Amino acid sequence: MSILVPSKTPALITPGRQALDSALHHLDQAAEHLGLDHGLRRVLATPRRSLTVSVPVRREDGRLDVVQGFRVQHNVSRGPAKGGIRFHPGTDIHEVTALAMWMTWKCALVGIPYGGAKGGVAVDPTGLTTRELERMTRRYVNEILPLIGPEKDIPAPDVGTDEQTMAWIMDTYSVSAGYSVPGVVTGKPMTLGGSLGRSGATSRGVQIATLSALGRSPEGVTVAVQGFGKVGALTAQYLADAGCKVVAVSDITGAVYASGGLDIAGLRTWAAENGGVHGYRNADALPLDDLLELDVDVLIPAALEGAITEANAPRVRARLIVEGANGPTTPEADEILTAGGATIVPDILANAGGVIVSYLEWVQNMQAYSWSSGEVELKLRDLMESAFSEVKSMAAARGLTLRQAAHVIGVGRVAEAHQMRGLYP
Ligand code: NAD
Repeated sequence: MSILVPSKTPALITPGRQALDSALHHLDQAAEHLGLDHGLRRVLATPRRSLTVSVPVRREDGRLDVVQGFRVQHNVSRGPAKGGIRFHPGTDIHEVTALAMWMTWKCALVGIPYGGAKGGVAVDPTGLTTRELERMTRRYVNEILPLIGPEKDIPAPDVGTDEQTMAWIMDTYSVSAGYSVPGVVTGKPMTLGGSLGRSGATSRGVQIATLSALGRSPEGVTVAVQGFGKVGALTAQYLADAGCKVVAVSDITGAVYASGGLDIAGLRTWAAENGGVHGYRNADALPLDDLLELDVDVLIPAALEGAITEANAPRVRARLIVEGANGPTTPEADEILTAGGATIVPDILANAGGVIVSYLEWVQNMQAYSWSSGEVELKLRDLMESAFSEVKSMAAARGLTLRQAAHVIGVGRVAEAHQMRGLYP
């Protein structure tokens, strides 16, 4: 029995709690491998700061609603906390804590000087008008204001948030500071100090990880992508551009399939104009969850946590799974897939392109300078490829899966930082 994963009452297991148990399970395995002592394991298993806030929202009809918001800084031993903000009705403090912990290992793994954080508001943003969304975002930011700042904790987009959300956050923070502080968020619009290459960075990283893991020509390799949002849609596009045959994609509105390969550019236009992929005419409709079980070479879960579980893992036929989303595979599913011979490129490696270019955006903001898209892409590629080859070598040398190796490297670096800094007081 793990010392980190507490025993639980089944009725209380939310998807967020499951995500946190997954994160603690991976930490536990890495800590065991590294031989970390009990006290350090407890430190790494516990967030440094967690804030839960109530966010009152004035609706257009005058009603007052209150939603819950969160900001968790998991670890700041290697630098300021960094992590996205999610607007989703299912989010809770456990999910945000799990996502913050994964950010800590991810930043350490790819060698950028950040700790891990995450934020969230338990709300369906599609149910709010733009003005309601802006008011809610600004009030949420005001509530978490003591935690964030360019040298303390730097938010970015995640599920349900985008460049506009980041612009409102940057403005709210700047009004409070009395001057413009572009470095307080990343993933901003270009006009406010955003970086070239940031909007496609996570997907570009997933493409680099997929092609590195394939180890052969991408020509004709079949791919299915779950989630057609910021990460999934551009991942599908970049893989199609590289020569892969993306045969299926899905979003919350439905799944579409074309055995000869989808026209991803056409589908992106359709989804933007129709609010999702449902109804796209040049493909067949597919039951949503069937996408995960298609006979394809590569499966890319790029939606939410817990997509592949022990229930459907035995039916997953792809031999390469590249995690665009955070935590899409439960530990039980991970074991089933690995035992069946599948290779899984884990989230903390596969989707690290986003935080890498967020870091580059922040560096540019701190220097009031900007790099060309070519320079940004070169740095992104360099960091992704070195992290990939480091993980692959460690896995081969120690007989680990890519996920275990990635965690051993990430957790090991954070543990080392703790040991070097010592304990105050
Ligand atoms: P998004 O809100 O832009 O897109 C999410 C997509 O998933 C939407 O298309 C939605 O319809 C779809 N979806 C939700 N439930 C689904 C289901 N059951 N079946 C199929 N599709 C479903 O969010 P995003 O920014 O693309 O994030 C996706 C994942 O990638 C998350 O796990 C996020 O934490 C992770 N991630 C995002 C970034 C980033 O830069 N945005 C970086 C690293 C990791």
